[in-house]
Amino acid sequence: MNPSSPASPQTHQPRPDFSVCVFCGSRLGHHHEWAATAADTGKAIADRGWGLVFGAGRWGLMGTLAQAAIEEGGWVSGIIPRYLTEMEPVISGLADLQVVETMVERKVRMIDQSQAFLILPGGIGTYEELFEVWTGRQTGSHDKPIVIANLSGYYDKLLDFVRDGLHQGFLTARHMEAIDVQTSIAGVFASLDRYARALDPK
Ligand code: AMP
Repeated sequence: MNPSSPASPQTHQPRPDFSVCVFCGSRLGHHHEWAATAADTGKAIADRGWGLVFGAGRWGLMGTLAQAAIEEGGWVSGIIPRYLTEMEPVISGLADLQVVETMVERKVRMIDQSQAFLILPGGIGTYEELFEVWTGRQTGSHDKPIVIANLSGYYDKLLDFVRDGLHQGFLTARHMEAIDVQTSIAGVFASLDRYARALDPK
């Protein structure tokens, strides 16, 4: 097996047609409900037969999310730079593991190999990933939906800051239309279900 190949199967499950790339904290955060939310999200993705693409780590909300999806029998792909594998354990049970050389290469693959992005609570890594996919959509490098799970108002301040940029003339309404902000997991999955149906209307 070549671990850096995009098709480096760890199990024999086929790659689903619809995969959600989830960005979220490599820490658990102080509120225990985030871990429950991450686990529910992983299960809901697996139950729909969708793929989960994520950062391959075992820590924090990322690990909780992926572990729940794997335990539910879901197809989970982890894409991680080699130097991170030397610092932390890669989660086991992945359907697909891709070890790449740089963070940039990893992000390109995460974007290419997913059909939608979901942002759960997280820290600067998660913010950076949100802005990467958001600017990518704005500049036309992809046209995939971006769902922000603004649970318990976690992203209120960030979104207020962005809206202020709109009022100050640095963003346009088109920037805001590129994101789908949901305040509940039910709302998140209502959106994702719609996006999945739009790609495969049968
Ligand atoms: P943060 O929000 O700062 O905890 O960073 C988490 C996000 O950045 C995740 O969505 C990952 O894709 C990426 N990331 C940050 N740290 C790690 C790590 N140690 N292992 C794997 N991915 C990470």
